[in-house]
Amino acid sequence: MTDTQNPFALDGRVAVVTGGTRGLGEGFAKALGAAGASVMLLGRDQDRGATVAEALTGEGVDTAYLPVDVTHPDDVTRALDETLERFGRCDILVNNAGACVHAPALDVTPEDWRQVMNVNLDAVWTCSQTFGRHFVQERAGTIINIGSMSGLIVNRPQWQPAYNASKAAVHHLTRSLAAEWGEFGVRVNALAPGYIKTDMSPVDEPRFRQNWIEDAPLRRYGTVEELAPAVVFLASDASSFITGSVLVADGGYTAF
Ligand code: NDP
Repeated sequence: MTDTQNPFALDGRVAVVTGGTRGLGEGFAKALGAAGASVMLLGRDQDRGATVAEALTGEGVDTAYLPVDVTHPDDVTRALDETLERFGRCDILVNNAGACVHAPALDVTPEDWRQVMNVNLDAVWTCSQTFGRHFVQERAGTIINIGSMSGLIVNRPQWQPAYNASKAAVHHLTRSLAAEWGEFGVRVNALAPGYIKTDMSPVDEPRFRQNWIEDAPLRRYGTVEELAPAVVFLASDASSFITGSVLVADGGYTAF
């Protein structure tokens, strides 16, 4: 099924990408499709979902979009069921959907805190458990959680305490699930990106630009296109002996 000459090939595999409607998730879906996978896109924005699905289909990728709010456990169960119904199998889950509230700690409201934790941590847990149960039954499957450099360090002056805490928790949840499910042939890894220009990252604000450009060894932001191959790597047999890892892709920012 998979091209044995190319361990990065995903032919015959089915990937589910949460938050596949824009930003990094859209880029990850494209790259997984280009590597040969069929792709199920999840997200709430139906217009964007349809647009991305149409673009991928135009590129020859077997794709479907399903309107899903990952904070609703019933939606997540439906996402697994419909993936199996539509594609006949499910091999890869990319927990990419995310939310951020930029505010100093004393200004964070209970609603801000809950919203960030609901999307970034609780939903990652719900999706991982739902799809992980299937992967454990199948004795195969891989989960990629999109963490952040903000789960490794606190990046001043970008005050976002809930986001930072949620991403640190995602990294450790990754290790916990990898430890439990490795014996069943299920791998769980995280990718910790640095700044990539999307709706979420205010990279054009001068204070972020200055802070980042001066301190990142590569002296620039990353792009979706150079991050996506890392997801393909973690999804593919090229990383078959890697589980419980947090792969940092941040231009070297957190290295010193
Ligand atoms: P965007 O804001 O551009 O996209 C967020 C995505 O998450 C959208 O597709 C959105 O889909 C989806 N989403 C949000 N809430 C929900 C929900 N309740 N249910 C389903 N989908 C949801 O962000 P990015 O692309 O920048 O971020 C993607 C991931 O990468 C996040 O986890 C983020 O924390 C992480 N990251 C990003 C970095 C960056 O610099 N951009 C750096 C480090 C990590 P919809 O609106 O259709 O629901």
